[in-house]
Amino acid sequence: MFRKILGQDQAVLQLRKAIENGRISQAYLFHGSDGVGKFMSALYFGMAINCYALPELRPCGVCESCHKFLSLEHPDLIYIFPTPNLNLSVDGEIKNPESLKQYQAFIKNKLEQPWAYFFFKENTEIRKESISLLIKRMELTIHEARYRIAIIEDADQMNTATANAFLKTLEEPPANTVIILITERLQMILPTILSRTQPLYFKPLSQSVIDGILVNQFEVSLSTARTAAKISAGNLKTAIRIVSDTKSVSREWAFDIVHLAAENDDLGYISLMDKYKEFQNKDQVLDMLKYLRIIAGDLACLKISPDSDITNVDKTDSMIALANRCKDLDANLHDFLIVLEDLNRKIEGNVNLNLILINLFIKTKHFLSAQAC
Ligand SMILES: [Zn+2]
Repeated sequence: MFRKILGQDQAVLQLRKAIENGRISQAYLFHGSDGVGKFMSALYFGMAINCYALPELRPCGVCESCHKFLSLEHPDLIYIFPTPNLNLSVDGEIKNPESLKQYQAFIKNKLEQPWAYFFFKENTEIRKESISLLIKRMELTIHEARYRIAIIEDADQMNTATANAFLKTLEEPPANTVIILITERLQMILPTILSRTQPLYFKPLSQSVIDGILVNQFEVSLSTARTAAKISAGNLKTAIRIVSDTKSVSREWAFDIVHLAAENDDLGYISLMDKYKEFQNKDQVLDMLKYLRIIAGDLACLKISPDSDITNVDKTDSMIALANRCKDLDANLHDFLIVLEDLNRKIEGNVNLNLILINLFIKTKHFLSAQAC
């Protein structure tokens, strides 16, 4: 099943060699950008070293052990990710029904459509309570696996106190235990954590790998796949969202902004900000900007030729009409993309989102030469 991990030959080879040579490290740090297969590789590695099949077939994906891993229900798999405060009981039970509902929804999303965004209602981090539970579980005997596996996703989202509580376990994990930390932000990992783990880099996926996955597994046309792959910059999750997420709030939001900007409708925009008020959080606005970038690219292509191969194929007619009404789209595109990059950085730097959204509207009007529309 390792061959299902596409575009990460080097990282997968290192993991396979570790298994073959019996040199499995007790603590790994899988790093690299989002949507390149880090979690899948961690899970498959855990599966491989616990699989019941012949060594050369591991992980088989069908034995009882693999099956439990794939459904994230193996009793010796400890999966930790950033959460809101879950008020865990001493046994790790989530007592609050609303928190439990959100937690289960996260797991369901992870299993069924891991490329889709999932937003908890409250702020998330790797909580001290999760790490305390992990440490406690590591003191118990292993249930049935050869190796107990702990996967900690977004490990950079652990504050110093939580990280310190975890250091001893990370340095000397119990026997037959493998801890895999995952991060997109290597620079945010504390040096004390870094020095206790074996790093493994996952590179951005090539366009051809993403094309292939989209065409073969998501049955989209090669032209749509290529556009999505190009825009995604090696992030498979983004590429899948682009081709499959036609009803996403972020996408509709981006289109609403474009249409109001083209109409130069400032009052309409104030109502729009109110309409999307509940979605006005960092992650969702960043996602919306991604769609805006794609729409801008599509419009500029359509301005040059109505037959252009665009991403938002379902909106072709309205976009051709819009492109025809606006001057200089292709000339303005470059500047607008730079503006979006800049806004992106500001959002990451926690600049007030209201200001960002107002600025965004002004710049979108400029891109569309709205005064002349
Ligand atoms: Zn198996």
